[in-house]
Amino acid sequence: NGFIKLGLAPELIAATEDLGFTQPTSVQEKVIPLAMTNSEEGNARFVDLLVSSQTGSGKTAAFLLPVLHTLLKQEAEAEAAAKAEFQRLAAEATARGEVAPKKAKRKDPTNTRNFKAATPGALILCPTRELAQQVAHDAIDLVKHCRGLRVASVVGGMPYQLQIAKLQNANLVVATPGRLLDLQRSMQIKLDQVQFLVVDEADRMLDLGFADDLAEVNQLTIERKQTMMFSATFAPRIQQLATRVMRQPQKVQI
Ligand code: AMP
Repeated sequence: NGFIKLGLAPELIAATEDLGFTQPTSVQEKVIPLAMTNSEEGNARFVDLLVSSQTGSGKTAAFLLPVLHTLLKQEAEAEAAAKAEFQRLAAEATARGEVAPKKAKRKDPTNTRNFKAATPGALILCPTRELAQQVAHDAIDLVKHCRGLRVASVVGGMPYQLQIAKLQNANLVVATPGRLLDLQRSMQIKLDQVQFLVVDEADRMLDLGFADDLAEVNQLTIERKQTMMFSATFAPRIQQLATRVMRQPQKVQI
């Protein structure tokens, strides 16, 4: 399996095998290792990327795999820390002669009393509902073996309540800009935990007039994040958008 040498987690390699991918495509081979590289020595921020690639090139997995890899690593670290803390509390309670605390139950996200705004770590923006649904579908295939990672989509024309319920515990959200900003304004989603922002089909985003929405989403996310922009061309208007939402992006031409 040609994905092993790219340094991806075993859970993700297993998913590529289930999908029948044996060799990374050209865009995957270039983007995956680059996307997992820090921008500076000792700096936790990953490099920003501007990638030219066509539909059918395998670009979706090229951005999903490195993002999922890092989210998975963070999730495992958080889980280990929570487990250690729980064991520490249990040991303390036992030492005091008390009954050890029970593990907290996971809250039911459909119960409105438990409502809290969604805080995804990764956000994928797509110009159309159809593309967003396709990307979300691919992401669900890729997280199949990843315990603790959840994917949700946010697109116009879908029942609001259903999307909100699914959104609650999502780590990765795939969205069209309009509906995403609606949910943000009604405080169903907070974007200040987004560490990975992907703009898919940036040229179509511009054609559909989403430039200002993209800039607004960018403003709402943290500054120290990784942004990846995919586009069929590096036309001047794409470069202009790139300077608006990225910092010294590395260009990858396929
Ligand atoms: P995309 O360009 O992301 O729309 O992908 C085009 C198609 O290629 C999709 O159906 C993917 O499932 C498929 N694909 C992506 N990566 C690979 C790979 N490494 N090997 C075989 N098929 C792939």
